[in-house]
This record gives sequence, C-alpha cells and structure tokens, in this order.
Amino acid sequence: MSDPYARLLALRAQLETYNEQYYVVDAPTVPDAEYDRLMRELVALEQAHPEWRDPDSPSQKVGGAPVSAFPEVRHLLPMLSLDNVFSDEELMAFEKRVLDRLDRSEPLAFCCEPKLDGLAVSLVYEQGRLVQAATRGDGSTGEGITENVRTIKSIPLRLKGDDWPARLEVRGEVFMPKAGFDAMNEAARANGDKVFANPRNAAAGSLRQLDSRITARRPLAFYCYGIGQVEGEPLGECHFDILQRLKGWGLPVSPEVRRMQGKAGCQAYHDDILSRRDRLPYEIDGVVYKVDELALQARLGFVVRAPRWATAHKFPAQEELTRLLNVEFQV
Ligand code: NAD
Repeated sequence: MSDPYARLLALRAQLETYNEQYYVVDAPTVPDAEYDRLMRELVALEQAHPEWRDPDSPSQKVGGAPVSAFPEVRHLLPMLSLDNVFSDEELMAFEKRVLDRLDRSEPLAFCCEPKLDGLAVSLVYEQGRLVQAATRGDGSTGEGITENVRTIKSIPLRLKGDDWPARLEVRGEVFMPKAGFDAMNEAARANGDKVFANPRNAAAGSLRQLDSRITARRPLAFYCYGIGQVEGEPLGECHFDILQRLKGWGLPVSPEVRRMQGKAGCQAYHDDILSRRDRLPYEIDGVVYKVDELALQARLGFVVRAPRWATAHKFPAQEELTRLLNVEFQV
C-alpha cells in the first residue's frame, strides 16, 4: 500500500482486531512476532507523522476492554504494559535514554527478571488476607476474578509473618507451567476435545472462567514481580529488595530474579536465561530490566502505556504462523 495514511488506518484496524482476539476472547489468530511487527510499523508511521497521532490508536492503549461477565475492578494505580527492545543496539539506546534523563554517566543497577508468558493480575491483601484479585483489563479497569485466583495453590490466602502493610497490592503473572499444559492438552486430545494453542492462552482462558471449579482443575501457577498501591510505610528503597520482602511473606517470586549492573549486566543475564530457555519449566518470551532504585523510577516516570524505567528484552519468536493457524483454540 503506497498511501501511508491508508496504511496507518489499516494497521490500526488490524491491530484492534488482533487485540480483541487476544485479550478478550483469548484466541489469537496470528503469532506474537507478527503482531509485534505490525505494531512497530504503526509506531514508526505515527512517529514520522505526528499530525496523525490519535489517543485511541492501539499504540496508545494497554490490553483490552474488560469482559462484562466479571465485576469491574478499578485499579488505584494503572496496570501498564512494557516497552520492548529486540537487539543489543536497542538495549544500548534504552540505557542511554535512562542515563540521559537522570543526568548520570555511571551504570545503574537493574533488577532483571524472566518475562513470564501468562497474564498480569493484581492481588489485594488486607490485614494479610487475600480480599481481591483482578486482571489488568485495559490498564485502568480489570475483571474481578477473586474466586478463580483463590484456587491457585501457590497464591497464599494469608500472608506469613505480621509486618505486612494493612493494605498491600501485589502484581504478578499467572501462567501455566509446560508440564501441566502438555498433560492438559494430551488429556483433551484423548477425549477428542479442542486443545489450547499455547500455555499463555491456556492460562488466560483458564483464569477467566465463570465457574471457578473449572479454574481449580487447571494447572496454574503464579510469580509476583511488583507492587501496586500500598498503605503505610514504603516497603523498601529498591525493587529487588521489595521482591525479597514479598517472598518472606510467602508470595512466590521467580528464583531467576537477579540484580545486575548496567547494560553489560543486563546483556549477561539475557544471554544466560536465553541459553536455558528450553529447560525452564514455564514459557518465557524474554527478560525484563527494571531500574532498581525506586527514587530513580519516580524521576523517570511513565509514558502513556509503559514505564520509562523498565523494558522487556524479547527473545526470538518460537511460534510459526502456520502452527498457530493449524491449531484449534479452546477458551
Ligand atoms: P507485554 O507482554 O508486552 O508486556 C507487559 C506484560 O508483561 C505485563 O502486563 C505482564 O503481564 C508481563 N510480565 C511478565 N513478566 C513480567 C515481569 N517480570 N515484570 C513485569 N511484567 C511482566 O504485554 P502486553 O501489553 O499485554 O502485550 C503486548 C504483547 O502481547 C505484544 O507484544 C504481543 O507479543 C502480544 N499480543 C499478541 C497478539 C496476537 O494477536 N498474537 C495480540 C495482542 C498482544
């Protein structure tokens, strides 16, 4: 298509459709790599033509609209997405942007984490008890899925210890480990039922069930990777240390989380996790780097759909379009 404006409109419409299929119906029809390519093309066009920018563009939005079958939950702090880097050069540019904004020249500490391929949830604990769980939804409003989340064995219903804040919002990823996914699909095949396309869709479809007895039978797991709104004293000065506190209260944190220095440390972490990707018991689609110091995070702030202080370093895609299109999906 030679008319760039027509191309931009076509990309927006196509990405809206893919978002609906992915976030609302849990049934994507294209691999993530294809979606990412189209999104990058759209972002490049919008950057080249600022006059065509539109706050309703898929490039400006997080996730998808919450499904009305679930109660609405307003997030007190928005649940955002993450920006991506795909190469060494882009990682270097990310570090440079961060250092320039902070007016620093020395490498910073980053908290490095696996990028779990599941779906984001917010858990609210009051007086140490789990009282609410919600999906990310469109970032400001999610779906209330408390009963379903209560069936996930690794999520504590009561926190350990007694030094937790009166109200604590924890954020993390619900995912389906590979072994559970394979066993579930094998059983579905044996019964002549439809199989899930990948563990991410299996996790999303399983968590967003109207009957929590179905969720309870699905092999779901959870790792937390951050906090949302917290009442009272700050939990710490660094993201890494906060994750250790969450762990102390019985909340599962990935054993792969590390504090590393600068771009070189991030790259070493990336290379190590990538080399072990196939041996990890769950699927990941990259790693995430977060500026560790909370005071620096606050200075860096956010752009419309993602924090400036973090980025996802995506791995090469594993799925092929042909494979996806040949699989029947189950929600
Ligand atoms: P994202 O995957 O780009 O990044 C943000 C999400 O990463 C968070 O919401 C959280 O759920 C997750 N995450 C995992 N580990 C994390 C960690 N350690 N710290 C923080 N967050 C962590 O998320 P997005 O905004 O939901 O989706 C965009 C991506 O989803 C696209 O790049 C594409 O790959 C995929 N997508 C695919 C289709 C499709 O049709 N195939 C459609 C829409 C989106």
